[in-house]
Amino acid sequence: MSPLCLTHADGTTTTLRNRLLMGSMHTGLEELPDGWDRLAAFYAERAEGGVGLIVTGGLSPNREGNMWPGMRTLDSEESASPHRAITTAVHAHGAHIVIQLLHAGRYATHAEGVAPSALRSPISPATPREMSVEDIRRTISDYAQAAILAQSVGYDGVEIMGAEGYLINQFMAPRANQRNDEWGGSLENRIRFGVETVRQVRAATRSDFIVIFRLSMLDLVEGGCTWDEVVEMAKAVAVAGASIINPYVGWHESRVPTIASLVPRGAFTGLTRRLKSELDVPVVASNRINDPRLAEQILAQDGADLVSMARPLLADPMLLNKFASGQSALINTCIACNQGCLDEAFSGRLTTCMVNPRACRETELRIEPTAEPKRIAVVGAGPGGLAFAVTAAQRGHQVTLYDAASVVGGQFNLARLIPGKEEYSETLRYFSAELVRHGVKQRLGERASSESLLKAGFDHVVLATGVVPRRLTWPGIDHPRVLRYADVIEGRAPVGARVAIVGAGGIGFDVAELLSHEHLEGDELAQFTATWGIDLKGQNPGGMTEPHPARMRRELWLLQRRPDSLGKGLGKTTGWIRRALLRRRGVNMLSGVIYERFDDEGLHITVGGVTKILPVDHVVICAGQESEQSLLGELERAGQPVSLVGGALMAGDLDATRAIDEGVRLACRL
Ligand code: NAP
Repeated sequence: MSPLCLTHADGTTTTLRNRLLMGSMHTGLEELPDGWDRLAAFYAERAEGGVGLIVTGGLSPNREGNMWPGMRTLDSEESASPHRAITTAVHAHGAHIVIQLLHAGRYATHAEGVAPSALRSPISPATPREMSVEDIRRTISDYAQAAILAQSVGYDGVEIMGAEGYLINQFMAPRANQRNDEWGGSLENRIRFGVETVRQVRAATRSDFIVIFRLSMLDLVEGGCTWDEVVEMAKAVAVAGASIINPYVGWHESRVPTIASLVPRGAFTGLTRRLKSELDVPVVASNRINDPRLAEQILAQDGADLVSMARPLLADPMLLNKFASGQSALINTCIACNQGCLDEAFSGRLTTCMVNPRACRETELRIEPTAEPKRIAVVGAGPGGLAFAVTAAQRGHQVTLYDAASVVGGQFNLARLIPGKEEYSETLRYFSAELVRHGVKQRLGERASSESLLKAGFDHVVLATGVVPRRLTWPGIDHPRVLRYADVIEGRAPVGARVAIVGAGGIGFDVAELLSHEHLEGDELAQFTATWGIDLKGQNPGGMTEPHPARMRRELWLLQRRPDSLGKGLGKTTGWIRRALLRRRGVNMLSGVIYERFDDEGLHITVGGVTKILPVDHVVICAGQESEQSLLGELERAGQPVSLVGGALMAGDLDATRAIDEGVRLACRL
């Protein structure tokens, strides 16, 4: 990626070494006592990996603007000084770094929250206090003060968060701003807060201090801004002194997915190009860009001046260096699952990454050469086994990987067949390349037995044998029309027009997605926008239009025994998407179900004391898993040192984040 030269108002220039911007992510390290050194290591690794410009996680310029109680602010010299560790570490690798200033406004989860109007957001626990004019003026000057502090500790600039439904965005949109003074009503009044913030930040800082404005390009909420208003705002903040415009799509309260894996790659880059054509300052492309080849394409076609990636740099800090050196096959690609990052962050836990457990654990989880190379067998080439095998081999162990299947991947081979989860193939491509690179001996298509493992005399055996589906015992369970989920997903079992899915966990939802999915007219992007009601032409306020999801041709029932609503255990930031899709397609969701039997009439169930028959052609069993440990006993009895990871260790609450994490950690210990 070529460098980018920013020319400042006084004619001086800043040259960014390339056009890859690392987007802002709050990691949770910000609040830890030892967080500064850990953050420094986290950002330094990404700077070393080739990123040109890093944007840190957001900090508020005052306490009212904190997202939650106890969050750090940037409001005093004392709060600023520890940031030196971060800026020094990043500059040592030749990258630039700016800090994001984020005032939560009505998204605050504490009682001191303030906003343009006293309107609670649908996702907030508290109604904010309406800001007085005095509050507004003080807050703008708090932004300027925070920028001065940022400059004093070595940041190259700030990013002012004006998107995602936070305070500045709340001032912009009639949805959250019902004021009738000079800060509300007309467009000029609604954009005044953001524009004045940029103007005062610019005036308070050096002329070569980078001021990025994060702009909501498409609000995706009722009562959002029109396209013309967005363009006006962008022009006004550029005139006020913004060096770069970084557009984003959607508010946190939007009921439209914008970064989940079912969003087509680069879905919103057409809009970025349109915005760029209206502006003279550099514009950034973002949202679902996880492949440097796509980034290069956007830049080559003049669709943006910079490309932002955030989660992809959790997944692989060395992404750009690998791309630049022709090693794209070795990139650990972000699969947009959100499980390790956003789901954790929004649950108040430390951010990490499903496919890279080292993310935000750089100082604690070190992959270092072993002093005692061992001969290790790994049984099972699912995510946990692969993570162990690659990491152990990287450390210098001699690793042999067995799997009864002829390909690596385990349960990921099922996941990648589910519509919207095609990205899972990338993880398998990555692990396959890493197995070769680190010299792991692959014995695929071979079911390892305890005898063969013992005979080979390994120093250690790792059982990553995963799970087997739970066997149910009600009458009719062996009927030929009762199917195993793996046979359905892999297309081995033809499925009729009326289907009941027993079990509504992750796999039950996956099977429901697969069986209810119908293609609409048009390409992937057209199908996505029609399903969710997105107006990419920008004719409607907020970019919203009537959704036209495809109705499924099947009749489908998704069932669980628990009385609560279905899908509660799904990811915090993606579960609602999966539930909404199935509801829109007309999937019947039943909880509190007692399964009686299956026979030629259908599935006999009792719900709320009433017994009925679902007249289905097929039943698919997705009733959870049990650990596959059949090799363990004999190996232990023979005195073989053995460890378990992933589903083989514990089937309950299994997910790939835990399996991969356990694989890497065990490999670092052995
Ligand atoms: P799961 O999430 O534990 O769900 C098992 C389902 O089976 C539950 O709905 C449970 O509900 C039902 N069940 C349990 N025992 C049953 C019984 N004896 N008879 C009838 N129903 C029974 O397991 P899974 O769906 O197999 O998924 C395995 C793991 O992979 C999970 O940990 C999951 O998180 C992960 N996964 C995640 C995703 C994702 O999108 N994040 C996708 C696929 C898999 P009731 O007990 O209420 O009936």
